[in-house]
Amino acid sequence: MTDEAPDGKNNKGQSVRGLVYPENRKNTMENETSKPDILSLSYEELEELILSVGEKKFRTSQIFPQLHRGLMPGQMTNISKKTAAAIEEAADCFLPQIDIKLTSQIDGTVKYLFRLQDGNCIETVLMKYNHGNTVCVSSQVGCRMGCAFCASTIGGKVRDLTAGEILGQVIAVQADSGERVDNIVMMGIGEPLDNYENVLKFLHNVNDARGICIGYRHISLSTCGHVDGIRRLAAEKLPITLSLSLHAHDDETRSAIMPVNKRWGIDETLRACREYMDSTGRRISFEYTLIKGKNCTPSDAGALAARLNRIMRAEAGCPIHVNIIPVNAVRETGLEPPDKAAIEAFCSVLEKKGIRATVRRRLGPDINASCGQLRRQSRAGAENGTESTSCVTENKN
Ligand code: SAH
Repeated sequence: MTDEAPDGKNNKGQSVRGLVYPENRKNTMENETSKPDILSLSYEELEELILSVGEKKFRTSQIFPQLHRGLMPGQMTNISKKTAAAIEEAADCFLPQIDIKLTSQIDGTVKYLFRLQDGNCIETVLMKYNHGNTVCVSSQVGCRMGCAFCASTIGGKVRDLTAGEILGQVIAVQADSGERVDNIVMMGIGEPLDNYENVLKFLHNVNDARGICIGYRHISLSTCGHVDGIRRLAAEKLPITLSLSLHAHDDETRSAIMPVNKRWGIDETLRACREYMDSTGRRISFEYTLIKGKNCTPSDAGALAARLNRIMRAEAGCPIHVNIIPVNAVRETGLEPPDKAAIEAFCSVLEKKGIRATVRRRLGPDINASCGQLRRQSRAGAENGTESTSCVTENKN
């Protein structure tokens, strides 16, 4: 994709809903000295850096795991001050800093607003399930995909995150919570396949057995339907789970709420999902956000089942799973979820047509845990000089 947004508008602040936002600051993480960012380096790249500062190669086996536990060179007790200083001179050594941390009193979900080295903020969520701890990471500062219901896209994309900034979220959550992260979902702010190289590098680095070592099968990546990205990822043959944010069964409705659909229509997108399944052996999970008055009648459910069965199941012979998400109200969008009875009716039509449907439990309802909202509140607060959020701020640096 070019730097043009998928609906053809540029991303310099003109938003999809006619609101005008300030010019975006930067599109990439540039720094004057163009030093590498240490958490973006693979083990082998770190080895080269260690050699370049006059240290022995084997030192990498001490430094890499410590970096991935959240220690920066100056904090490592088993390397000399001189070596630490030389590494910090050769690379940017920075971990996302906790700006705001909110803990749900209802289910223990923790939401972080992290501040990056250049002052931009992103959100990360730690969710505690019976089957382990899951971290939801952001892949961009903002988003340019323009989905009508999503808070992350309202101000457009500011810049891509580096691989190290994505990894840094996992490291910082583990270091802060003292808990091991078992699963990762790329469902935070941003479109991961619109930041392909950095996301791929992150996937390799987080999977490295000498570091955090999270298996690919424990990683899910959610996309709005960036078909080129899905095809590229399929060719990597990594067994990560792909989630497709579908949200409508017909092109007209989907294009109205998801501009990406104007570029890649539903059939083409589902065919790319099919290719992903064939290539990786992994099932696709479908996300379907229910928006009152737009996409949630029983007849919508019937048409959705028919389309999924036609393209996914008929050829693949594989059970289909749809995650139903009643839309989270975002003030700027004015969109609302349907009532409980309509949600149940929608699911029961899907089930009758042989599609497994689960309604996503809303985690951290008291801390506004859906993506993009805390960053927006924080930015609005900063711009107005008011408090950033009405929730309790537990930890602020
Ligand atoms: N860009 C990726 C991942 C980020 S959003 C994607 O589009 O999949 C993660 C999921 O939350 C997506 O399914 C997205 O459509 C959904 N989402 C975003 N805003 C929402 C809202 N206000 N209510 C319900 N779901 C929302």
